[in-house]
Amino acid sequence: MAKIKKEDLSFVRGAVRLDEPMSRHTTFKIGGPADAWISPADEDDLLGVLRYAEEKDIDSFIIGGGSKLLVSDKGFRGIVISLEAPVFGALVFETETLTAGCGIKTRELIKKAAEKDLGGLEFLAGIPGTLGGALMMNAGWPTKAIGDFTEEVTAFKDFKKIKLTKGDLRFSYRDSNLKGLILLSARLRLENKTKDKIDVEVNKNLEKKRKTQDLGFPSVGSVFLNPSGTSPAWELIERSGFKGKAIGDAAVSGKHANFIINRGNAKASDVSRLIDEIQKKVFKDSEIMLKLEVKLIGEF
Ligand SMILES: Cc1cc2nc3c(=O)[nH]c(=O)nc-3n(C[C@H](O)[C@H](O)[C@H](O)COP(=O)(O)OP(=O)(O)OC[C@H]3O[C@@H](n4cnc5c(N)ncnc54)[C@H](O)[C@@H]3O)c2cc1C
Repeated sequence: MAKIKKEDLSFVRGAVRLDEPMSRHTTFKIGGPADAWISPADEDDLLGVLRYAEEKDIDSFIIGGGSKLLVSDKGFRGIVISLEAPVFGALVFETETLTAGCGIKTRELIKKAAEKDLGGLEFLAGIPGTLGGALMMNAGWPTKAIGDFTEEVTAFKDFKKIKLTKGDLRFSYRDSNLKGLILLSARLRLENKTKDKIDVEVNKNLEKKRKTQDLGFPSVGSVFLNPSGTSPAWELIERSGFKGKAIGDAAVSGKHANFIINRGNAKASDVSRLIDEIQKKVFKDSEIMLKLEVKLIGEF
């Protein structure tokens, strides 16, 4: 892989940072430097960055809010692309539908829709990140997920803009068939609801989350997927005696055992050792191999 030089990136009109610590871009506040972090100015600029990476055989990936990522202490060899420029978060309202740019933060999306008396997305309250990340992960809680509201997705595939309509889209538990695409925008079907009613539901959901989740420390939410047909991951982890167990500053939350929290200076290696120990012990105790919900980035 070619070494990235600042002068090679002079074509980029958006922001470029070399050796950017990923701990600045993840909710875990963990992660070594990425060779380059780029926030393209618009879609053409994004295409330029993607073409440059392809030509030079440089790895790249899109980061949303970084709320489902564990980035290696050694960082990421390649380009991290952020769609944080306002143009990637544009909103177009239609009757009962809203087309939203995938760079918009979910918090902002709920708020802006509520201002037009459009609701339905209150379940996303307290799920950090962007619309792009939510679609990729089919984010949801407790019984609703973003896929239920998605009618169309616009994306880049092989440098071309494509549209996926309802029949093309597959959403399942914390998963979608969108991998490999660069998600640009999505048309969401919403419900007519007053802003006051939406605000009440949002606050109720946030309160429930505060009661059940450890929100006082950096984390990525649930680390493991709930296995199907058996106890939820938090219960299996708790049964195996991990509640409160720590390696370095990475600790299993005392409030929700599927959360690993960063108590201050946790390293990605501490978290990954803890993950490893949990998987082995839960397998020994319950014969279930817990699968990761968190995405690992870089070398582990
Ligand atoms: C305190 C806390 C509570 C949480 N609670 C929940 C919960 O209740 N339910 C739930 O489902 N999740 C929960 N999460 C996890 C997380 O917030 C969601 O998975 C979220 O949707 C991830 O979005 P993101 O933008 O941060 O994605 P990132 O973490 O940045 O990325 C996730 C994946 O999406 C890809 N991606 C992001 N944007 C794009 C794009 N535009 N195009 C292509 N690929 C893209 C990334 O490459 C990566 O593979 C929680 C996290 C925290 C920290």
